[in-house]
Amino acid sequence: MAESRSAKGLLIIHTGDGKGKTTAALGLMVRAWGHGMTVKMFQFLKHTGARFGEHRAAEKFGISIESRGDGFTWLSKDMDETTAIAVDQWARCKAAIKAGDTDLIVVDEATYPVTYGWLDPDDVVATIADRPPHVHVVVTGRDAHEKLVEIADVVTEMQDVKHPYRDQGIKAQPGLDF
Ligand code: ATP
Ligand code: MG
Repeated sequence: MAESRSAKGLLIIHTGDGKGKTTAALGLMVRAWGHGMTVKMFQFLKHTGARFGEHRAAEKFGISIESRGDGFTWLSKDMDETTAIAVDQWARCKAAIKAGDTDLIVVDEATYPVTYGWLDPDDVVATIADRPPHVHVVVTGRDAHEKLVEIADVVTEMQDVKHPYRDQGIKAQPGLDF
């Protein structure tokens, strides 16, 4: 248990079309970790075992980032499999939230499997609403469900003003995008 365990866990949502939702969540993880808090990230959609910069850094920090998915869903050949992976990932995440032994849990790109209908929004909202009171939860992704927004303490919308891919055709770069 961290010395700085919170009295009131917050639900923080990073949503909107602009870049920075996952990046900001990683920043919070580092900040909390610096206080000796226990932190975990569960990623949806990204490839299982992805080796982005954040996964490499997390390994060195001793932080857990569990990534499960088969990459970009619109390229998926087997939607049943894609759905099953998301359902399984949510089960793991839900167990971690309920266990209450992690001070800050990031549910990264969790809005998409809800939007696509792979996860029951009521289950996601109820799990987060009924979590142990000291647990901070961060949810990232576009189009956050209105019921989730309703119970959140912090909702930040990243606004897309410019993006190098769309505006200049600059492809995703290591260290900046993954
Ligand atoms: P990041 O992981 O960089 O913080 P994000 O979590 O806000 O981004 P996602 O919707 O998860 O955004 O998208 C992840 C990838 O898509 C990143 O490589 C990011 O640079 C890119 N991206 C984010 N926003 C845009 C945009 N408006 N147009 C094009 N690409 C984008
Ligand atoms: Mg993201």
